[in-house]
Amino acid sequence: MPFFRDLRFLDLPLFRRYRAFKMAATRTVSQNAPPLTLQNTALLPTRRSDFPFAKPQTVNTETSTPEFAPSFMPRSYFDALFAAHGPQHWWPGRTRFEIIVGAILTQNTSWTNVERAIRNLHGARMLSPQAIRRVRFTRLAQLLRPSGYFRQKTKTLKSFVNFLFDSYAGSLSRLFSTPTAVLREQLLALRGIGPETADSILLYAGKHPIFVVDAYTRRILQRHGHVHSKFAYDEIRKLFESALPADHQLFNEFHALIVNVGKHYCRPESPRCSECSLARFLPQSILPVT
Ligand code: SF4
Repeated sequence: MPFFRDLRFLDLPLFRRYRAFKMAATRTVSQNAPPLTLQNTALLPTRRSDFPFAKPQTVNTETSTPEFAPSFMPRSYFDALFAAHGPQHWWPGRTRFEIIVGAILTQNTSWTNVERAIRNLHGARMLSPQAIRRVRFTRLAQLLRPSGYFRQKTKTLKSFVNFLFDSYAGSLSRLFSTPTAVLREQLLALRGIGPETADSILLYAGKHPIFVVDAYTRRILQRHGHVHSKFAYDEIRKLFESALPADHQLFNEFHALIVNVGKHYCRPESPRCSECSLARFLPQSILPVT
C-alpha cells in the first residue's frame, strides 16, 4: 500500500485566470515545525562509519570521480529534504495537457521562459490537443518562441499531439491508461522526447510511478559518490525505483525537492554544503572545493 497516500498537498489549485507558478521556489520549513518525515529519522546515517570510504581526501567534485559509495538510501534523502523544505506543489499546471506542454518546453531553458510561452498559448486559446493539432506550424512556432529552440519544440509538440490522435483518438485518459512500460516506449519513439521528458509526462501528467532523473539528480549523487559520470539515465532511475515503493506522489515530491536543492544549494560552482539539508549524507572523505 502506498505510504504516501495520506498526503493531499499535491492537488493543483484551479484559478479563474491563468497564472503560472514558479517552479521549485525555495521553501524552508522552520526548525520548530512539527516533523514532516515519513520514515524513522533515527535510521539516518550520521556517523562516518556509515560510509565505507577510504582515508579522507579532498577532491574537486567538478573534475574528479569520487569513490563509489554503495550505501545510497533514497528514503533517508527524501526524509531530510522533505523535513527541510516541505511540499513543493509540483507540477505547476492547471490541466494534464498543460503539464505535458510544460514538460516539452522546459528542455534546455528556464521555467520563466516556459511560463511566457504557456501564457502565449493560453492567450491564444491553444492549450488543448485539438487546438495544437489544428494550428499552423508557423503560428505555433511564433507562440512558442520565448521558450527557445522553438522550431524544434513546435515539431515535438505537433508530433506528440499527432501521436495522441492517431493512437488514442485524442484522449489523454486512454493514453495514460496504457501500462507504464508500453507508454514510455511509445513516448521515447517520438521526435524530441528523451527519457527525462517522457518520464516527466508519465509522472506529472499521467501519475505513473516512474522516477524522473535530471542533471540535478546526477550532480548530487555524483558528488555524494553514489554514481559516476558514466552511469546511464536508467541506471540512476532504477537506483531510486528499486529502493522506494512505486508511489507516484512520492516520486513527484522527491524529484521536485531534488530540483530545489540542485538550484539553490548544489550549484555547479561553489555548492553550499554547509547550509544544505543533504550535508549529513556527504561523505567526509569527499569534501567539495568551494
Ligand atoms: S551537501 Fe548539498 S550542496 Fe553539498 S554536494 Fe551534497 S547536495 Fe550538493
